[in-house]
Amino acid sequence: MIKVEHVTKNFGSLHAVKDVSLEVNQGEIVSLIGPSGSGKSTLLRCIHGLEKPDSGKIYINDEVMDPSDSKKYREQRNRMGFVFQHFNLFPNMTVLENCNLAQIQVGGKTKEEAEKTSMEYLKRVGLADKRDSYPNNLSGGQKQRVAIARALCMNPELMLFDEPTSALDPEMIKEVLEVMKDLGNQGMTMIVVTHEMGFARKVGNRVIFLDHGEIVEDSPSEEFFSHPQSERAKDFLSKVF
Ligand code: ATP
Ligand code: MG
Repeated sequence: MIKVEHVTKNFGSLHAVKDVSLEVNQGEIVSLIGPSGSGKSTLLRCIHGLEKPDSGKIYINDEVMDPSDSKKYREQRNRMGFVFQHFNLFPNMTVLENCNLAQIQVGGKTKEEAEKTSMEYLKRVGLADKRDSYPNNLSGGQKQRVAIARALCMNPELMLFDEPTSALDPEMIKEVLEVMKDLGNQGMTMIVVTHEMGFARKVGNRVIFLDHGEIVEDSPSEEFFSHPQSERAKDFLSKVF
């Protein structure tokens, strides 16, 4: 579904992502973990096209993503949903309007069509009754569930999450992880940058461990947690557990 081939991203002299290659198949739930500054967000942003790699290629369903082919590139990007740590909801719009916006502006739907889809996904994340609320009147967990619903409204084939729970109070983390777990159970392909090791181990199928911009390990979740191969992963796990 997604193939990353020799992707490198530098910020000046800083090598944020170094020659990373990976492949994610349909239905896989991949946890991207690693120390702070190891390049997790940068890699995820490169996959989504929020950052432009300095070199390397990204393929979605075997088709290369080429920014110079702008129409096709836009379509390819629209096949992915992105959920941010800080929700990125529009504060001046209601929950429903937040969900409708891209469907209308990007997807070309009518307002009625968009609303129907929005309500479907708001129900799925348990927030249909908040349709007319503004983001500032929601809890962090609710905001993040709206952000997930909003992404799902675009009918993505792949969902990318960048630390979706790290800005949340502990009691709200669970409700967001539950929504993500359900999504995975329904077969959604997901790449999740996370510090939630329980999620990575129990919900994720596979762990990619990054350090200093490089993939150090790429293994099935259970194997990664029970038998990490590298000293760097062992060291990381000894600090988080
Ligand atoms: P964290 O767990 O703290 O979110 P991360 O693994 O997501 O870390 P990145 O945000 O990808 O790490 O950053 C990788 C490196 O690139 C870091 O050294 C960071 O300071 C640097 N970096 C990231 N974005 C930029 C940017 N826009 N400009 C300059 N440097 C950047
Ligand atoms: Mg990050």
